[in-house]
Amino acid sequence: MKNVSEIFGSMVFNDRVMQERLPKETYKVLRTTIEDATHLTKEIAETVANAMKDWAVEHGATHFTHWFQPMTGITAEKHESFISKTKNGGVIMEFSGRELIKGEPDASSFPSGGLRATFEARGYTAWDPTSFAFIKGTTLYIPTVFCSYSGEILDKKTPLLRSMQVINKQALRILKLFNNPATRVITTVGVEQEYFLIDREMYDKRPDLVFCGRTLLGARPPKGQELEDHYFGAIKPRVYAYMAELDEQLWKLGVYAKTKHNEVAPSQHELAPIFSTTNTATDHNQITMECMKTLAIKHNLACLLHEKPFTGINGSGKHNNWSLSTNAGTNLLEPGDTPEENAQFLLFLTAIIKAVDEYQDLLRISVASAGNDHRLGANEAPPAIVSMFLGEQLTAILEALECGTKYTKKCIMPLEIGVDVLPHFPRDTTDRNRTSPFAFTGNKFEFRMVGSSQSVADTNTVLNTIVAEELKQFADLLENADDFQETLNTLIRKALREHKRIIFNGNNYSDEWVNDESKRRGLLNLKSTVEALPYFTAKKNLQLFAEHGIFTPQEMHSRQEILFENYSKVIHIEALTVLDMVKKEILPAIVLYVKDLTEILDKKQKIGNDNPQSLERYLLTKLDALASSLINRMESLERDVLDAKSVTDAQENTIHYREKVFMSMQMLRSIVDEIETIMPKKYWPFPSYSEILYSVN
Ligand code: ADP
Ligand code: MG
Repeated sequence: MKNVSEIFGSMVFNDRVMQERLPKETYKVLRTTIEDATHLTKEIAETVANAMKDWAVEHGATHFTHWFQPMTGITAEKHESFISKTKNGGVIMEFSGRELIKGEPDASSFPSGGLRATFEARGYTAWDPTSFAFIKGTTLYIPTVFCSYSGEILDKKTPLLRSMQVINKQALRILKLFNNPATRVITTVGVEQEYFLIDREMYDKRPDLVFCGRTLLGARPPKGQELEDHYFGAIKPRVYAYMAELDEQLWKLGVYAKTKHNEVAPSQHELAPIFSTTNTATDHNQITMECMKTLAIKHNLACLLHEKPFTGINGSGKHNNWSLSTNAGTNLLEPGDTPEENAQFLLFLTAIIKAVDEYQDLLRISVASAGNDHRLGANEAPPAIVSMFLGEQLTAILEALECGTKYTKKCIMPLEIGVDVLPHFPRDTTDRNRTSPFAFTGNKFEFRMVGSSQSVADTNTVLNTIVAEELKQFADLLENADDFQETLNTLIRKALREHKRIIFNGNNYSDEWVNDESKRRGLLNLKSTVEALPYFTAKKNLQLFAEHGIFTPQEMHSRQEILFENYSKVIHIEALTVLDMVKKEILPAIVLYVKDLTEILDKKQKIGNDNPQSLERYLLTKLDALASSLINRMESLERDVLDAKSVTDAQENTIHYREKVFMSMQMLRSIVDEIETIMPKKYWPFPSYSEILYSVN
C-alpha cells in the first residue's frame, strides 16, 4: 500500500480539492454555504459542477449519481453518465449546475407511509454541500436529501440536518449566557460498527442468510462464545487481508477508519472510525457498511450486518458516540479537572439527563426494528429500558448539587499494577460500565442500543432534537433571569430532582434492575418494536418535532406507518423463507434418511435379525414423533401467515406478526433444530452453526 496520507481522501472532492480547483471567490462562497447553511446561487453551482466533473473524469469517473437515504435505512443511487451528444455524432462530458443541485428520481417505489399517492410519483433530490462528493468505482456520488413533489420529506438525512441546525441554535443561546464567543455548535459522532464475516460458500447454501440476513434454523454448536477466546484475539490471515483492504478503500473515500478487532462471538469483528460531524459520520457509516458487504464478495466471504445472525451467539450492534463541540473545537461535554465548578458543563449535562428521561420512548423507537428486537429486551444487552450511566464522580457531584451540599472530591489514586518497569498512570475517575444503554465515557455519551444494520440518522435526529428542546427551555428561563446564578442553581436542582430516576450506575442486565428497580422508577420497558412504535405519535412527541420544524405531524404518522409495515414485511419474508427451507429441503432429507433406515431394517429382517431394540428402530421411532410435530407446526405457521392477510390495520397487522407468526416460527424452529441433532451430517441440507461460525481461517 502507498503512504496512507497520500491515499487518504484521494477519491473525495474535499476541502483541499475545492480550494485547489475552484476560483478563490467561488470557494469562499461555497465555504460560507457549508458552514452557515446559506443558499447557493446558480452561477456558483455551475462553477462547482464543472470543477467537480473535471476532477471526477480525471479520476476515471464516467457517471454521477445523486446518493440519498430513503426510509429503507440503506442508501439509493441512480447512475447517469456525463455524456452529451455533439453535432458531429460524438459525445462530450458535461455536468451542469442544475444537475448538481437537483435530481428528479421517480419516488413511487420508495416507502412514503401513505404520504404520497403513486400517481404523484415525482420526488426531488437536492445536493447536500455539507457532505463531500466522492468517487466509487466509476461514479461520482453526490450526497443529497430526498423529498416529495409537494415538499414532504422522504428520507433520513433531511431531519438529521434540521436537527443539527436546531441544536446549534439552542446551544449557542446557552453559550452566550456564559460569555462563550463560539459562533457555531456541531454535534460529533463516532460509530463503532460490529459485523460477522463468514465463508461465502456457507452463506450461499443458506437461503435464510441470503434472504433474511440471519439464520432461521440451526442447532447450537458445541462451542459458542463461552470461553471468551475470540474477543480481541489474534486476527486470522483471511480476515486480516479483508480488513486491510477495507481500511484502504475507506481511507480513499475519506473515512477515518481507526480501530479494528475481533469481537466476542466467533467470526464477529468491529471497526470504528475517528469521530466527525454527525452528518458526515452518518454518511460514512453507510459507506462503511456498503464497502464491508461488497468487499467480502471479492474475498469469497459474506459480511453479515444483521443484528442477530445466530441464535445463542451474541448479536451485533453499533455504538453511537455522541458529543457537542464549538467551531473552535471545544468539546462541551468535557468536564475539565473541576467539573463541580464548571457550570456550563453541568447545565449541558442536566439538559441531556432531562432529555433522555422525558424522551426515553423516542430513543427506544429510533432503534426499533424486527432485527434489533433479538438484542434489546431479549437475553442480550443492552436491555430495552433506557437509562444513563454517569459514573461515581459525576453522580456524586450531581447529588451534592441537588441537595445544596458541598461536593468533596475523592482523590484519584494512581493505578498500581505491580510491575516496577511499568509506568504508573492515574486511574480513570470511574470504571467502564458495559451494560448501560447510554453511558457517559469521559467526554461523550455512548448510546449502545443501535442495531448493526441500522442507519444512525434516526438516533442522532432524536438526540439532537430532544437535547435542543431542553436547552431551549433552559435558555428561555435564563435569558430572562434577574439573578442568573440563582436561577441557574434552582433550574439545575429542579431538573435533577425530577429526572434523576434515569441515572443508573449498576448492572443493567440484572433481573433486579429489569424486573424491579426500573419498574419502581417508572421507566419504560418497551420490549419489542411492536410495543415501542405506538409511542412515536404521542402528543408530546408530535409537539416536539413540530415545534422544532423537524417533522410535521403528518410526516410523523407516515413514518410510523412505514415502521409498522416494515416490521410485518420482515417477519413475513422470514416465515416464507423458513417454510420454503422446511418443505423443499428438510422434509425430503428426512424422507431420504427414513427410507435408508427402513431399507436396512428390511434387510436385517430378511436375514432373521429382528431385534426390537435395534438402532434403526430407535431412530425411526424418534424421527417419526419429531416429524409429526414438525408437520403440525409447519401447518400452523402457514395458517398464521395466511391469517395475516385479513388483518388490514397496520398496527394490528404488526401485532399479529409478532404474536402469531413470529411465535409459530420459533416453535417450528425448535423442532427442526432437534431433528438436526439426530440427523447424520450427510443428509442435512444446510451447513451447521459449527461449520459456518468456524469457516474462516
Ligand atoms: P471503545 O470501544 O472503548 O468504546 P473505541 O475507540 O472503539 O472505544 O470507539 C470510541 C469512538 O468514540 C470512536 O469512534 C471515537 O472517535 C469516538 N469519539 C471520541 N471522542 C468523541 C467525541 N467527542 N464525539 C463523538 N465521538 C467521539
Ligand atoms: Mg467499542
